[in-house]
Amino acid sequence: MSYPSIARLSILGQSLENRNIYALKISDHPDQREDEPGLALLGCHHAREWISVEVPLQMAIYLLKNYAQDERIRAIVDSSEIWIVPLINPDGLDYSILNYRLWRKNRRLNSDGSFGVDLNRNYSFAWGVDDSGSSPHPASETYRGSQPFSEPETRAIRDLFLQVNFSAAISYHSFSQSILYPWSYADLPADKEPLFQQLAADMAQLISQVNGRIYYTGRASTSLYLTNGDFIDWVYALFDIPAFTIELPPVDLQEGGFFNSEQDIKSLSAENLPAVLYLLEWTISTYANQEERLKPEAKNRLEKRVKNGLKNKRMRLTGRERRD
Ligand SMILES: [Zn+2]
Repeated sequence: MSYPSIARLSILGQSLENRNIYALKISDHPDQREDEPGLALLGCHHAREWISVEVPLQMAIYLLKNYAQDERIRAIVDSSEIWIVPLINPDGLDYSILNYRLWRKNRRLNSDGSFGVDLNRNYSFAWGVDDSGSSPHPASETYRGSQPFSEPETRAIRDLFLQVNFSAAISYHSFSQSILYPWSYADLPADKEPLFQQLAADMAQLISQVNGRIYYTGRASTSLYLTNGDFIDWVYALFDIPAFTIELPPVDLQEGGFFNSEQDIKSLSAENLPAVLYLLEWTISTYANQEERLKPEAKNRLEKRVKNGLKNKRMRLTGRERRD
């Protein structure tokens, strides 16, 4: 293991086909749980979005390589915990590489003989509230699974979020060149939408300064299409923290869609780096002691809500009323 003083590799769990789901934690004292804000960088909920594996990986490499000589990086790493999970869907990626390039879901054998659950429709918040944001049909590209967290891959992410004190999260996807924030399941403003809009705009501004690419920013439900049971809604609803879907370039199918060039790894990672550093510095500067959240009662309550999957009527109400 490289950089043992600031990095720790762990296994969050196994995929359906028993591949490891790895997480790399980057922080000073990586073996300890310190009172520091956490940032999660996730990749590859969707198998065919290969570039979404590479970008978070490159973030890890940059932080580790520059820690020793770059004061800014050292300050960030010393006062935060960065968790990088570049490959949530290893079975799907393997299938996309070896069998069918446009495979999207995991490799669940469904009851009707079809394969795959859409992992970004399998989280518990607003899971399956309607059939436009996800599908009840197993053969569909957006099949939400038989129940919330039916898949080991999403359970691995759920359990990580129950252990770590995250202050923000980015989930990388492709394509469309945009930065999206909750809500995804309905065209409603999140309580914290002004903050999300500000953070997204600042990140887009920083990104544009690197290669000139303009990332569109907006509410996920209005910007792309409705999605329910997705990662960012779950993170915001449960933990009340900013969570972004970054849809990496290109902007459309004509520009290549899911097919990025190899040079994109360098160029897209380089342009996304300042946005990640900015978000990390935001989590550090706004971080308040989280003792309250870590109290056993509070933690038990949270765990219960997460495990119960929040499947009740409250999720049909507005954002304001739902998050009690
Ligand atoms: Zn995706």
